[in-house]
Amino acid sequence: MPYVKVAIDVPVATLFDYCAPHVTAADIGCRVRVPFGRKRLLGVIMEVGATPSLDPAKVRPAGDVLRDAPPLPLALLELLSFCSAYYHHPIGEVVHASLPGWLRIERKAPASSRPVTLTSDGDVALDQALHRAPAMRSLLTRVRTFGLLSEQRIRELRPAERRLLRQAIGHGWLTPLDAGTVQAPSTVLPSADCTSSATAEKPDRRLNAEQQRAMQAIVADASTFHCWLLHGVTGSGKTEVYLEVMHRVLDNGKQVLFLVPEIGLTPQLEQRIRARFPKHALVTMHSNMASGQRASHWAQAHSGAARIVVGARSAIFAPMGNLGLIVVDEEHDSSFKQMDGIRYSARDLAVWRARQLNVPVILGSATPSLESYQAALAGRYRKLALPQRATSIPLPDVRMIGVNREGSRGGLGPSVIDAIRQRIERSEQVLVFINRRGYAPVLICGDCGWCSPCHRCSARLVLHKNRQRMACHHCGHEEIVPVACGECGNADLHPLGYGTQRVEATLRTALPAARIMRVDRDTTRGRNTWAEMRASITRHDVDILVGTQLLSKGHDFPNLSLVCVLNADQSLYSTDFRAAEPLFAQLTQVAGRAGRAQGRGAVLIQSEFPMHPLYRAVQAHDYDGFAQALLEERRQTDLPPFSHHAVLRAEALQMEHALAFLHQCVHATKGITGDVIVFDPIAAPMQRLKGRERAQLLVQSKSRPLLHAFLDQWLKKLTDVRANRVRWSLDVDPLAI
Ligand code: ADP
Ligand code: ZN
Ligand code: ZN
Repeated sequence: MPYVKVAIDVPVATLFDYCAPHVTAADIGCRVRVPFGRKRLLGVIMEVGATPSLDPAKVRPAGDVLRDAPPLPLALLELLSFCSAYYHHPIGEVVHASLPGWLRIERKAPASSRPVTLTSDGDVALDQALHRAPAMRSLLTRVRTFGLLSEQRIRELRPAERRLLRQAIGHGWLTPLDAGTVQAPSTVLPSADCTSSATAEKPDRRLNAEQQRAMQAIVADASTFHCWLLHGVTGSGKTEVYLEVMHRVLDNGKQVLFLVPEIGLTPQLEQRIRARFPKHALVTMHSNMASGQRASHWAQAHSGAARIVVGARSAIFAPMGNLGLIVVDEEHDSSFKQMDGIRYSARDLAVWRARQLNVPVILGSATPSLESYQAALAGRYRKLALPQRATSIPLPDVRMIGVNREGSRGGLGPSVIDAIRQRIERSEQVLVFINRRGYAPVLICGDCGWCSPCHRCSARLVLHKNRQRMACHHCGHEEIVPVACGECGNADLHPLGYGTQRVEATLRTALPAARIMRVDRDTTRGRNTWAEMRASITRHDVDILVGTQLLSKGHDFPNLSLVCVLNADQSLYSTDFRAAEPLFAQLTQVAGRAGRAQGRGAVLIQSEFPMHPLYRAVQAHDYDGFAQALLEERRQTDLPPFSHHAVLRAEALQMEHALAFLHQCVHATKGITGDVIVFDPIAAPMQRLKGRERAQLLVQSKSRPLLHAFLDQWLKKLTDVRANRVRWSLDVDPLAI
């Protein structure tokens, strides 16, 4: 009699056995109804076999197999299993997270309730009370795990659970959300942009010699796995190379998966791909899509109707059964790594998926991650370089402007203002880049040193002068601007430092005739706002853009000829060993916005440390020198990519609980052998967040297999460690420690 192993959406790291007489191997990847405790759940059949892994007498029968959708591709199930094993996350949750909503449930009820989320009272109640109310506990835990309970999930609740839900709302533990707040507000719908497309792509563009060489190398070996690192300076024509390789792969009848960091921000790329391949259906995938659209795109990728999937991180799980190529553009970008829930790296999974399918994967960047760069140096990846810009426009001229702390009034030094004025007089556009929104990052009392702390986080409240609010950028807490110091009552409070709003104000005073547009998360909230703003930048209705990293990525603004970078120094002080890498990438990226279509662009970086080696490397456009120096440092200190990390994070209302838990976890490593260093538990860099104290424990090994062997044994023992009042999670290959 056949038995099935089923992935069920529960936080347990195992598959569940059921007997299923009518099931065959063709049903692997289908959904199946199964009894689970006293509930009936929907799972996904992962394996079919002749024997169960527990006593056959204890195995319960499965219910119906749902064959309303074709089964998930076997290779995708393998990818999901790998993801679960590598990131040590329960398989059922990994599988279900990859499915669109309509496949996760089996019946539809009329829409009525609004999604709900946990309040801070609910958070406290869950940790401190409710020990004798298991049903309420489990409901609140579910909401906490998923961040919210969607309308769809609410519809699935049984009547008793709905009663609990109403009670929880009554107690103020859960709060209903407006439907509108659930979808990310800044997302730009792709369709909105396609209609406004002005730049139709000429399909017959000839590649230059370097592009040609890169393209041919990949195409010549396109029927086997290779990981290609396409290292090309900004504007070197990497995208053209991807497009030409895609062309060949699509001609062979295969599908292409194209991953980008943030698809909502860069619809130009999507347009460009659509324009190049008008005959091949393209769908997008990212986590902020409306559920109906997501379901439809998923189904098209699954059926093969969509030949191209362009998506953000989560698209790595697109159910494509006929994949011939994966492209990861801007592979160094940290948004490929999910920072909560299942903490996977879409870039790393892309390499795994390509190897498993024996197809090529292209990782492209102007500033590759040191992991990828080292892999290329070591010969595991094949490196292709595009050291020149594709157009006749040279790379921008980067100059440092030294300032001392007081020297820059309102954020901008006089020479920077002069340079901006000159460009505007020549009818060119200027981008002023500062990676901090708001007016000033802190409001300070000169008498006692009070500086607007957030009561829930180890952070300061940022002054948002336009809205007259103080806002925490970490937990979202807001309050009105205090009229006097919270400690000593002094009424003379000063904004210290500067953010986009203050820079905008300074520029309005210094250059009253200039047309200024501020681009940050505060100004781009509406659904199509960003698309409209981008259009008006392109029409040259704007002289000066003041913006955050929203503006640094992949945009082509033809009239932009000067980029001024303020406040980059901040990252030089960071304690994170990785801080230099993203700073270099970001400066290179934002510098690449200058002068893409017209004459040579210029970049001014305002800094207290103009001679810093990092800035000198940016000036010289010397990624290789910079990367090699950093790699040498990492080699000497045994840091990644020369070792591998996993971090166990714990958070609790009290630091001592989080640390005590981690100390027990250290204790649990006794007896596990392996060449692994377990560091002492310490407070997290951001110690307090959303009212919870956070601590972490770093595990490091020179060998990835040894690290994982260690983690496997350790995690089994951790189920015995008492973790009440503590929430914990494991982060494999963390980007920040
Ligand atoms: P990247 O992806 O490396 O930033 P793109 O592919 O976007 O570079 O190319 C940068 C610019 O150069 C684009 O405007 C593109 O149209 C142009 N370009 C690319 N390849 C060529 C080429 N072979 N000849 C002329 N222009 C090119
Ligand atoms: Zn004071
Ligand atoms: Zn806060």
